[in-house]
Amino acid sequence: MASNLSQPHFHDEDAAFAYVEARVWPEGPVCPHCGGVERISKMQGKSTRKGLYKCYQCRKPFTVRMGTIFESSHVPLHIWLQAMYLVVGSKKGISSNQLHRTLGVTLKTAWFMSHRIREAMRDGDLAPLGGEGKFVEVDETYIGHIKSKPVGRAFHHKMKVLSLVERGGKSRSLVIDRIGAEALVPIVKANLDRETHIMTDEAHSYRYLAHHFAAHSHVNHRRDEYVRGEAYTNTVEGFFSIFKRGMRGVYQFCGERHLHRYLAEFDFRYSNREAVGCNDEDRASRLLSGIVGKRLTYQTTCARA
Ligand SMILES: [Zn+2]
Repeated sequence: MASNLSQPHFHDEDAAFAYVEARVWPEGPVCPHCGGVERISKMQGKSTRKGLYKCYQCRKPFTVRMGTIFESSHVPLHIWLQAMYLVVGSKKGISSNQLHRTLGVTLKTAWFMSHRIREAMRDGDLAPLGGEGKFVEVDETYIGHIKSKPVGRAFHHKMKVLSLVERGGKSRSLVIDRIGAEALVPIVKANLDRETHIMTDEAHSYRYLAHHFAAHSHVNHRRDEYVRGEAYTNTVEGFFSIFKRGMRGVYQFCGERHLHRYLAEFDFRYSNREAVGCNDEDRASRLLSGIVGKRLTYQTTCARA
């Protein structure tokens, strides 16, 4: 990982702009004010801001940072690229404290950057996972604590997560309020192709799934059954194990309001992992395609903390 960080876009601001522009504007500059693509000129001159363009259709200036997670941040672009590379390259995530020390930015800035990077990782793709001949493992887990709620029955005071993991493909995780067929079945139906072969454990919540999908197999963990032919949930359990180690060890848990962002981070790394032919550099490059339209203002994140 360290050797890749020697590339120019991690150290040189001009190279960083060129790197980001090539990914955000593959067809050439696009004006974020009016959407225009013609009559755009790059502004030159010693005192001009880096990466500054002017649109002669609406007569407004802009840079590639505008309208992305980099907007209204004073952190140089090459430092942002280093941060993104570190986040996508670390298996269990990287704490704000570690980013602060590695990048030499303040802790507050590091915290802000990591939340924005997580926002860029949020997959806007709502297309269902799975499909004909594909297996998707579905399982739920509990994490952390909900501070404001009284401790009632077991697990009621914990945050709940539902993950759908396609074997050999992507993962998609959601924060859920309740466990139980009524809550889970509609979510599973909305996120999976009907031709999918679903794999779960024996939980009661999943008993109606067979009606909605090509097939439904389950293993009975209570009877010590973990693998029966194609029936197992080891893939989704492996995903939960990385997620929990990261949340416990690196992030020391988070509030309920931020949980979906951390899940987006673990889903992103899983869905773009080595095993599906994605190295650290590909992952960093893919992350850049998620920066557009994801402005997250400082006030928004703080208000939710
Ligand atoms: Zn314009």
